[in-house]
Order: sequence, then C-alpha cells, then structure tokens
Amino acid sequence: MSKTWDVVVIGAGASGYAAAVTARQKGAETLLLDASAKTARKVSASGNGRCNLSNLHVGVDCYRTDDPATLGAVLSADPQAVPLFFADLGVLTQPDDEGRVYPWSNRAASVTDALYLKADELGVARMTDEVKEVLPTKGGYVVRCAIGSVFARAVVVAVGSPASPTIGGRDNPWLAALAEVRPFLPALCPLKTDKKYFSLKGVRTFADLTLFDGDAPIAREKGEVLFGEGTLSGIAVMQLSLSIPIARRPHISLDLFPTLSEEELYRMLSMRRKGDADKLFVGLCDKPIAYTLLKEEGIGLSQGLADLTPDQIRALAHRAKNWSFGVTGTTGFDHAQVALGGVKLSSVYPNMESKTHPGLFFAGEVLDVTGVCGGFNLHWAWTSGIVAGRSAFAFCHLT
Ligand SMILES: Cc1cc2nc3c(=O)[nH]c(=O)nc-3n(C[C@H](O)[C@H](O)[C@H](O)COP(=O)(O)OP(=O)(O)OC[C@H]3O[C@@H](n4cnc5c(N)ncnc54)[C@H](O)[C@@H]3O)c2cc1C
Repeated sequence: MSKTWDVVVIGAGASGYAAAVTARQKGAETLLLDASAKTARKVSASGNGRCNLSNLHVGVDCYRTDDPATLGAVLSADPQAVPLFFADLGVLTQPDDEGRVYPWSNRAASVTDALYLKADELGVARMTDEVKEVLPTKGGYVVRCAIGSVFARAVVVAVGSPASPTIGGRDNPWLAALAEVRPFLPALCPLKTDKKYFSLKGVRTFADLTLFDGDAPIAREKGEVLFGEGTLSGIAVMQLSLSIPIARRPHISLDLFPTLSEEELYRMLSMRRKGDADKLFVGLCDKPIAYTLLKEEGIGLSQGLADLTPDQIRALAHRAKNWSFGVTGTTGFDHAQVALGGVKLSSVYPNMESKTHPGLFFAGEVLDVTGVCGGFNLHWAWTSGIVAGRSAFAFCHLT
C-alpha cells in the first residue's frame, strides 16, 4: 500500500466512469477500480445495444427513492451537466420523439469507447480487483481488495446493484458497514404469473395494462406484452414491476382492445355469426390469443358461432378487456435491468457525500434511486457520478 490516491472510485460502470473522469479532469490523482477487466458492461448492454443514455424529461416523478427531496436537489442543481459531459467526451447524441436520448450512431460502443478514451487521455489509473471492504482510517480510507489494498483520501462507491450479475451486477455485503442499506429487489424485469399458457409462448400483443393490489388499481401502462411460459414481459410489464413490492395481492389485467368499450366489443363479436368459433377474433388478434380466450370460456374451436349465447359472447368480451393474471413474483436479478433499494439517499448530502463518513461518496445504482425505463437510470448514474467526482475532488483539495 505505497501510494495515497486523492480519489479511489470503486466500480467502473456509468457512474464510476463519470466520477473518475470528473475528479481527474479537475486534477485529482484518481484510481478507477473494478472487479472485472471488462468495464461499463451495462452501458454496452443498455437500450438493446443502442444505449438510451438520458431523457429530456427527467424529473423526480420518474424515480422511486427513499428521499425525493435530495433527488430533486441533485437532479436540478446542474441540468446541463450530462449534456456537457457527453459533449466533452465527443459523443454526438440525439433525442427521439419521446425525449429518450441516444448516441447519434445508435450504438452503445460509441459511448463506451469514448469513456475508455477519455479516461486514458486524462490519465485515470485503472486496476482490476474486487473490493472486499472500505475501512475509514486516519486521513482517508483503506480500500481492501481480494488481491491488494489501496489508500485514498476520498472514495466514491459506484458498485451498482445485484441486477444482471452476468454483466457486472454484484451483491456487496460490506456496504452495510458504511451506510443504511434498503434491501435490493429486482426491478424492470419480467413477472411470473399464476397462468401458464404454453400455446402463447413467444406471442406478442399490444394492450393497456393495469396492476391491481387486490381490487385497487395501483399502476397503469400501455404497450407491447410478450407472453412467456408463465411469465409476462415487455417494457410495459417491466415498468409495472417497479410497483410490485408495494402490492400485497398483485395481479395484472390486460385490456386487449383499449380503443373499444366492452359493449362495443360485445356488439362487434355478436354480429359474427357465420362459421365456427375459431373465426370469431379474425382481424382482431392473433390466433393463439383468440384460441386461449375461447378455451378459457370453455368454447370449442369448432363450435358454430350461430350457437354461441349472448352470455358466452359477453363473457368473451369481458375477458378480452379484463384478462387477469395473478403475479407470483419477479423473474429475479438474472433478468432485472435494475434494482430497487440500496444505500439510502437520505444518508448522503446533495453533493453525494455520506452524512456519517466525510470523504466517502456514493453514486449510481448503489443508491436507493431507481428510474422507470427511458434513459432515466443512466441519467442518474452520470449525474450522481459527476457530482460525486466533483465533490470528491473538492474534499481532497479543501481539507
Ligand atoms: C440489459 C440492461 C439494459 C439497460 N438499459 C438501460 C437503458 O437503455 N437506459 C438506462 O437508463 N438504463 C438502462 N439500464 C440500467 C443502467 O444500465 C444501470 O442503471 C446503470 O448502468 C448503473 O450504473 P452504475 O455505474 O451505477 O452501476 P454498474 O453499471 O452496475 O457498475 C458497477 C460496477 O461496479 C463493479 N463492482 C461491483 N462490486 C464491486 C466490487 N466489490 N469491487 C470492484 N468492483 C465492483 C461491477 O463490476 C460494475 O462494473 C439497463 C440495464 C441492463 C442490465
């Protein structure tokens, strides 16, 4: 443990790179540490390889957090920080019609390559080792790793969450010694349901989705739903997954025909009287969905449409507008893009410094800040990383 670093950043993901580049740019001797030699892997995977890196409509209501006031203060302190960071990296960006910001190239590699280049140009030192604990000591912190240890005057903890373990997600029990941590829970992930329709596996449909807790609706989304074997996925389902922890009896209701009222759908179906039941939903939805709806109502595919009773047609219309799936859980961290929970945001100041450990800073997903889909999680990672990098530099040069 020879050298004393000004700043050691633990975790070379989006927030860690933002912190290290910012601290080094200001003049801090900076070491960026990661357990893996491959860094920024979630950035590479983000946005299906396109990297939805930010959103023009960022606001506190786009996030779940234990401390909305601090989040608001951090997000609004310097709204130009993220655009300027990318301008400085040389990454040309463009927003889509809904405000989601992507690299102009539409390739995540444009972002990761620019991060690697900037870190190298600035002389950010890099090391591969797994941090096992961070110990406050006189004049700074000992960062004890699997192979060696390093000493720093200021430390930025940017280790992310346990989500997606194959690309950097990791559980770090040592965090609990440094701050109050709310248990991590998988989020932005598919949901397991009480119904398993093998014939629907791989089928997609557009729907309006309502998440209920018992009888009470608690969240609504619209979008494409993908049926799996006992799972529902797609962006709309992933958004709903953020509300699962607050529901005691969660179930999702799909409205397959949101532009029609139940009465209109009933009347439309009632007029279809020729041929067999397998033709009832022609022009309305894919066969596997139509056949499943019929089966659920006990109607055989070869039953004559002329023989269907008004009650049977009403029941079909009702099911198509309120197709309920009990939610039995999430598909876990393996399939989660992010995690709810983490180091309580209320345990840091708006400059990201721990309220209990001077010189210790947190950034990114390790904090209890979880955004909805749309670039909000990466926006938080860059923003909090930039603030933590600036603050860590200021800490070492003012103390
Ligand atoms: C498939 C996928 C797609 C996504 N798409 C988007 C998207 O389009 N838009 C968006 O905004 N968000 C997206 N996200 C979420 C977003 O990528 C993350 O919220 C963000 O990357 C978190 O950044 P971070 O720096 O906080 O943590 P991470 O990126 O997880 O980085 C943490 C780093 O710390 C290292 N580390 C952990 N523990 C230790 C330790 N003990 N010692 C040393 N190193 C350690 C890890 O190896 C890792 O490199 C996506 C996530 C996934 C998984």
